[in-house]
Amino acid sequence: MQIINSIIHMQALAIAPERGERRISFVPTMGFLHEGHASLLREGRKRGDVLVLSIFVNPIQFGQNEDLDSYPRNMERDCQIAEACGVDIVFIPSAAEMYPHGFQTGVTVRDIALPLCGASRPGHFDGVATVVTKLFNIVRPDVAIFGRKDYQQLAVIRRMTGDLNMPVEIVGMPIVREVDGLAMSSRNAYLTPVERQGALCLSRSIKRVRELFAGGELSVAVLMEEALTVIKRESLADIDYIEFRDGTLLHEVTIADGSTLLALAVKIGQTRLIDNTVLGEES
Ligand code: AMP
Repeated sequence: MQIINSIIHMQALAIAPERGERRISFVPTMGFLHEGHASLLREGRKRGDVLVLSIFVNPIQFGQNEDLDSYPRNMERDCQIAEACGVDIVFIPSAAEMYPHGFQTGVTVRDIALPLCGASRPGHFDGVATVVTKLFNIVRPDVAIFGRKDYQQLAVIRRMTGDLNMPVEIVGMPIVREVDGLAMSSRNAYLTPVERQGALCLSRSIKRVRELFAGGELSVAVLMEEALTVIKRESLADIDYIEFRDGTLLHEVTIADGSTLLALAVKIGQTRLIDNTVLGEES
């Protein structure tokens, strides 16, 4: 008989025999893959023996008036990109199987999921936490790779996996941008050529704030003023939020330091785009 007092030890014992030596790495996505997703897949390839990609446009993370029905899809192209990145398994479940009649369980992460996108998209992170929990239970990854493009999502998932003792390592990867600075996103496909130009105001304001911070400006009021000025110069931009927060707990801050997060959500025409930077980290 063994007595075990450590969670990690208990989990290692429980999982090891069924798992063998094979490490599973996992990249969950909503598809319409681009170079940002590919960077996660390449990292996943390095970190595991079996690389699993999921493509699932998760209905429960979309609000009533959001773009669930119009979300861009191209399975054939996604599979080509996946193949080129060395994916072993593409998991494409149906919504009917993921959420059968009678489904009634959810995962809620509290404080860290409340501000920013949590405030503008009520219920969004419940949907994300629930689907990621389901996907982790289905795929049983050792390591899962997420992008820092969705900074708060990554923070929520780190919190959730820690709080609930999910035996999976979470890796966050840098934002991949187009050459002109626009953060890559499946939703960029919605933009008209004029809007595509207008969308540059997000990365432009990030760049401006980073320059000021690098020059010694630490006042969030001053940095905010600059960020607002850059965005407001763009007539197509409709600001959802621009916020400076502590990069770990997402608390509000008034004096910036290297760990301060600048997060933006801005509508360009009908398309809501997000972007962010941590002021002291490489962009
Ligand atoms: P999505 O398909 O939009 O749900 O994104 C799936 C994963 O890809 C998430 O972990 C995102 O953060 C990540 N991702 C999306 N766009 C980028 C990007 N431009 N750079 C890095 N990661 C990204």
